[in-house]
Amino acid sequence: AKKQGKNRYFWFESAMENELRFRNEMESGIRRALENDEFVPFYEQQIDLTTGELSGFEMLARWQSPELGLVSPDIFIPIAEEIGIIADLSEQLIGKAFADARLWDENLTLSVNISPVQLRDPWFAQKLLKMLVEHNFPAQRLEIEITESCLHDNVGMVHSMITSLRNQGVSISLDDFGTGYSSLEQLRSLPFDRLKIDRSFVSELRHNKSGRTIVDAIVSLGRGLDLPITAEGIESEAILETLKNLGDFKGQGYYFGKPEPSNAVFDRLRRLNLL
Ligand code: C2E
Ligand code: CA
Ligand code: CA
Ligand code: CA
Repeated sequence: AKKQGKNRYFWFESAMENELRFRNEMESGIRRALENDEFVPFYEQQIDLTTGELSGFEMLARWQSPELGLVSPDIFIPIAEEIGIIADLSEQLIGKAFADARLWDENLTLSVNISPVQLRDPWFAQKLLKMLVEHNFPAQRLEIEITESCLHDNVGMVHSMITSLRNQGVSISLDDFGTGYSSLEQLRSLPFDRLKIDRSFVSELRHNKSGRTIVDAIVSLGRGLDLPITAEGIESEAILETLKNLGDFKGQGYYFGKPEPSNAVFDRLRRLNLL
């Protein structure tokens, strides 16, 4: 038993070593990827569910790694946040997205995800507005998506940044609504333009009563606060039909298509005469 315990100890130690090595390799890989410009924007369609028309795209980050292939943002975004390079990474991606979206039909919007870490920078709004000018991209076509975890931090500062962005025409969506720490008071005091219902609720819409109840509650909250709603994670026609019966929303999800790279978006827009 004693021997076994000792082996287990060694096994545990080497598992930790492996994990540490993996983590170190990831960190330096992500730093190198930033230098080598390996992060690319993918785009997911956002649809006006009432008319069925394309209203814009959400940009979703991908790491096109020569060694690892296409890496998901759930892996590299948290690490980029921790090692302090999320702002640079995001700036690189947003620059590419502005350059793409500038060529799309002028009525199509671009949504970008902004990390809570970026919102701790008091100059964030100024930097974003400067990028809009540099890329000659209209603020009215830009929407930023922030999550409720931003609201833990300095609400006063987030409020003034949101306000200066909105004054220039940028829209602000509250992403993943319902999943985080949600304070209805903060929802009321921060000037959002849109609520995005998290896909966990949307996917349960037809399977159980609680999913339906939560979506109903968010919908009436949105009505009461005059906030338009986007439903994410629409995977089937059945869910789409259920949502359409609940109100006028925008929606996105695999039912309409998976996130795709820039050239695929251009092909799509060419077919739709939106280029
Ligand atoms: P999110 O903002 O909630 O984005 C929605 C995620 O759900 C995306 O995953 C999208 O591909 C996926 N999705 C969309 N429709 C469906 C569907 O019908 N079914 C299922 N199962 N999934 C669907 P993705 O692209 O892996 O992004 C994951 C998360 O990474 C995003 O969640 C966002 O929080 C973060 N992220 C992505 N790009 C960026 C970025 O540029 N900056 C920051 N800060 N975060 C980003
Ligand atoms: Ca989002
Ligand atoms: Ca979301
Ligand atoms: Ca999410």
